[in-house]
Amino acid sequence: MISSKRPRTCRNFTVDSDLFDVLPDDLLIHLLSRLAASASSPSDLLNLLLTCKRLNRLVLNPMVLCKAGPKAFAVRMRNWSDSAHRFLKRCVDAGNSEASYTLGMIRFYCLRNRGSGASLMAKAAIKSHAPALYSLAVIQFNGSGGSKSDKDLQAGVALCARAAFLGHVDALRELGHCLQDGYGVRQNSDEGRRLLVQANARELATVLLSSSSTWQQQRHNQSGNLPDLTATRCSLLSDFGCNVPAPEPHPVNLFLREWFESEGEVAARVGLRLCSHSGCGRGETRPHEFRRCSVCGTVNYCSRGCQAQDWKVRHKEECTTVQRWRDEDANNAGEMFGIVEEEVEDANNIVGIV
Ligand SMILES: [Zn+2]
Ligand SMILES: [Zn+2]
Repeated sequence: MISSKRPRTCRNFTVDSDLFDVLPDDLLIHLLSRLAASASSPSDLLNLLLTCKRLNRLVLNPMVLCKAGPKAFAVRMRNWSDSAHRFLKRCVDAGNSEASYTLGMIRFYCLRNRGSGASLMAKAAIKSHAPALYSLAVIQFNGSGGSKSDKDLQAGVALCARAAFLGHVDALRELGHCLQDGYGVRQNSDEGRRLLVQANARELATVLLSSSSTWQQQRHNQSGNLPDLTATRCSLLSDFGCNVPAPEPHPVNLFLREWFESEGEVAARVGLRLCSHSGCGRGETRPHEFRRCSVCGTVNYCSRGCQAQDWKVRHKEECTTVQRWRDEDANNAGEMFGIVEEEVEDANNIVGIV
């Protein structure tokens, strides 16, 4: 704690006064707001809450809670509790869009409270929160939380366009594929291609900016040799011949994936699948909701954006392998035909490789 010794130059403090006690609330709230915005994990705020009664009161001030950044809400699935839920709700009430988006995603995909989840995401989307706009677009494209007839492709495209305008790379990529395929919008291949190139360029710029320090460190360690980042390739590899680290997923996407995997047996029993793109975490809300790879049928995606990302990063190699095995099996025996027939029954959910 701060020393209680009285500075000789200050006449306002007594010998026993604590300098912390005489700091005005306004100043502390300003400092705590800056801290909340740059928090690197939920424990940054949690530690402040536990420090003393005064800090506990000030951290829970709406002016502090409304500034908390995404990593302040990066709760892991194993740490999820009623108090974590209440804290997020308190931040939502303080007007924090990031909290609205995070809690909206958790309620919609994990707690299966679809109406409340979508409403929270809409609350963030109204304030131009790009990930919330994109997530609502994915929900519209899939008719998530409802039936197949609840799909609204035009609404999905409109939400995607708004998120893309705000710089959301996945939305830009999704919109590019919609234009190329004429999905929910009049087909315009040239414009679609232009948006896809723009998405890759933006992604490259983001990744290079965020990882420049890592690259410099690795260059230093390897005495001028180019860094070896093959273990964490991102989707730009095949487009630009670059090998850069994969962008960091939003914390809530990791939470969603952990939640779905923890419910693995229950979900499998009712035929629900997780989006195969590792950075997504969205699970199906009804059987056969997501599209499957038309070549191998072993992977499924919530969106064209996720399919394109996973194809370039991982599935391109796996898919060709599976296809070769399948061809060999088809030549040798008819054991794989059951799987093919199942895919044909569900042909409407199958989309091609981009
Ligand atoms: Zn996905
Ligand atoms: Zn495949």
